[in-house]
Amino acid sequence: MLVDKPDVKGREDILKIHVKGVKLSPEVDLRVVAARTAGFAGADLANLVNEAALLAARNDKTEVGPQEFEAAIERLVAGLERKRVMSDKDRETIAYHETGHAVVASVIEGQYPVHKISIVGRGFGVLGYTLHLPTEERYLSTRRQLMGELAVLLGGRTAEEIKYGEVTTGAQNDLLRATDIARAMICEYGMSEALGLINYEGNKRPKFLDVPMPLERGVYSEETAVKIDSEIRRIITEAHDMATRILTERREQVDTIAKRLLSVEVMEGDELRNILGLPPLPKPEDKVAEGTPEVRQ
Ligand code: ZN
Repeated sequence: MLVDKPDVKGREDILKIHVKGVKLSPEVDLRVVAARTAGFAGADLANLVNEAALLAARNDKTEVGPQEFEAAIERLVAGLERKRVMSDKDRETIAYHETGHAVVASVIEGQYPVHKISIVGRGFGVLGYTLHLPTEERYLSTRRQLMGELAVLLGGRTAEEIKYGEVTTGAQNDLLRATDIARAMICEYGMSEALGLINYEGNKRPKFLDVPMPLERGVYSEETAVKIDSEIRRIITEAHDMATRILTERREQVDTIAKRLLSVEVMEGDELRNILGLPPLPKPEDKVAEGTPEVRQ
């Protein structure tokens, strides 16, 4: 989910939506609440309204008053701040991880260009992200593009491996998505020679790749299941090798970008491309098609 932190007017509008169905005391001024919640994302504001309503219920009140909002804000701010305290080592790891995604995405052909990298946490649990903007609408993906996408997904973890010789838990979501894509390549798109042009999943999946796999598998033999697993491993290894090659060859640039990211926290795509020796991107108004920006964590 990518939503920029709203400004004060935006926060007031979001609060107005979330207080529908909540009985507010006439003393509550949502403009004041909005002014007191700088840095809150939409989801934080929804939490805030819930929290205030819970406090009112707990105090046997029939309306949510300014005191409840005040108490809820304090509670949430404390929670947000606890999240924000992060060791220098963790910040550096996140910087390398995001740099890994961004460098692989920029160097590999056929991937959406990187628009921005950030190591500023947003919302709860998201540590950093790399934003890719589509330059065209894409309806079909080639095997090469999917392999590239896998390499980009694995780029974060690979950068950690190269830098530290060990990995953290930060790549869990990346690995999950990578495994999904690899499985779809094999089981649905017939992109594995070993398994052939058979759709092993039937019609279970309603849409393209972003739909999570159902837990039950398609109907096939144990032997086929073993083959599928080993093909997934092979494809993931191939993508991992691709990411390793790129990030090792460009190790100095990776260091430069990660260090810069540690000091500025947010880097624009053009600066990234400049460090990588790549030409700047075309201006967004000329090229960017309507499409969903992709975020890699
Ligand atoms: Zn990642």
